[in-house]
Amino acid sequence: MTRKSVYRDMDTCINCKACIIACKVKQMSPAYTVSRVEAEPRSLNLIQVYQYGPEMHGDRVHQSFVSIACMHCDDAPCIRVCPASSIYKDTETGITLVDKELCIGCKGCLWVCPYGAPSFSEDGKLALCDLCIDRLKEGKKTACEQTCQASAIFIGTPAEISELQARKAAERIFKSAVY
Ligand code: SF4
Ligand code: SF4
Ligand code: SF4
Repeated sequence: MTRKSVYRDMDTCINCKACIIACKVKQMSPAYTVSRVEAEPRSLNLIQVYQYGPEMHGDRVHQSFVSIACMHCDDAPCIRVCPASSIYKDTETGITLVDKELCIGCKGCLWVCPYGAPSFSEDGKLALCDLCIDRLKEGKKTACEQTCQASAIFIGTPAEISELQARKAAERIFKSAVY
């Protein structure tokens, strides 16, 4: 299997949170209650969906969302700071993985992660998106990518992700010129 990179698209995400549900099902994360008032998924989530806006862009109201989980950084700061060496890279794919047995729950990884991706399970140990490495090895998409109806999550090779980022940047420039 080749190296994997992640793209999460804030231009198309509609905040449906289906990725959170799919991930929880895949990871067998603890059940959560849904509050009638907030209707936000609770308990351990490896994915969070963040909202930006609403804010005015000229005479238009702009609001966007992005789903964030571990981005499996190349030079991952979480690995560099972990005093227990519990975070490591899969040599084949570059996916960031956790050895829960070694984790001491110090939360150093959370402090340095630029995406705020680390979550912690009830036992205080790090719980991190493993990019559904088992599914990828079977030739399947990750649970979140498979589920997202807005095509807001894409897992591919670093070259595919770079190409996608360049195309999205060009689209944004075009849209800002039109509006
Ligand atoms: S499933 Fe897709 S559109 Fe829905 S919140 Fe997740 S990333 Fe956004
Ligand atoms: S936990 Fe954060 S710093 Fe570590 S690989 Fe994932 S996104 Fe990068
Ligand atoms: S790749 Fe898998 S583990 Fe990671 S956020 Fe998506 S569904 Fe969850």
